[in-house]
Parts: sequence; structure tokens; C-alpha cells
Amino acid sequence: MSRTFSIIKPDATRRNLTGKINAVIEGAGLRIVAQRRIRMTREQAEAFYGVHKERPFFGELVAQMTSEPVVVQVLEADNAVPAYREIMGATNPENAAEGTIRKLFALNVGENSVHGSDSDENAAIEIAQFFSDDQIVG
Ligand code: ATP
Ligand code: MG
Repeated sequence: MSRTFSIIKPDATRRNLTGKINAVIEGAGLRIVAQRRIRMTREQAEAFYGVHKERPFFGELVAQMTSEPVVVQVLEADNAVPAYREIMGATNPENAAEGTIRKLFALNVGENSVHGSDSDENAAIEIAQFFSDDQIVG
């Protein structure tokens, strides 16, 4: 078993899709072992997306992630990082496979409904940014 970090983004919480997205996650066999709804601060979003600081869409990304509540989650599964990225689908929903969260729900490349960690190392860093060990119950 391993863990990954997930965010249900503002475009999805705004449309009341938390339960529908969780149903896809659980239907694919991933277990939600921690979950909390928060309003991300600008500081949290800038730190979280620090690797994208130089990208042209960074300001838009931070504005979007702080615009409305998000749901932060820890997911557990065999090979959790690639397992979740597979069910998330491609970053741009136009390229996402049938049945993936982004194909089902995303609006566009910026408002793409979910985040998932891209490596075990980043998963550990991202989980620690939002959860302490005692808040994760596997
Ligand atoms: P995430 O990190 O959110 O799971 P990802 O790994 O598929 O998504 P990244 O390349 O890490 O994609 O980009 C991070 C986020 O930045 C994307 O999820 C998206 O919201 C936003 N983003 C990426 N590319 C663009 C773009 N060309 N225009 C606007 N926003 C973008
Ligand atoms: Mg990414």
C-alpha cells in the first residue's frame, strides 16, 4: 500500500461534485484515508504550486485555487500515485480518456477538477503540507 495526495478543486466543489468524484475514486479501489474541506490561502497555494512559479499560468492557477473551497485528501492504494493519475485523466480534459474524472467533470485545462501527486516523493511532501500523521487513518 502507498499514498497519494488529492485535491478536489474549486470548479468541482462549486458544482457540488465532491461526492461524485469520491465515488469514482472509491469505485476504482482507492481508499480515502483522510479528507478535509478548506479554503486555501494565497500562501498555501503559492507554496503548493511553487514548481510552477515561472509558468505563464501561475497567477491564474493561484487565483483559481483560492477562489472557493477545496477538499484535500489522502488516498491509499497499491501504487497510489500512478493509480490515481490514471483515473484523473490527462491535464487537459480534451485529451482525457473516457471514464476518467477529468473527462467526466473538468471544464478546461485550468479548471480541471482534481489534483494528484506526480511522484511518491512529492506525495509525501504534499500530504505533510496539509495533514499530520494522526489525521490519516488507514
Ligand atoms: P495537477 O498537478 O493539478 O494534478 P497535472 O499534474 O496534470 O495537474 P501540471 O502540469 O502539474 O498538471 O499543472 C498543474 C495545474 O496547473 C493543472 O492541473 C492545471 O490546473 C494548471 N495548468 C496546467 N497547464 C495549464 C495551462 N496551459 N493553462 C492553464 N492552467 C494550466
Ligand atoms: Mg502536477
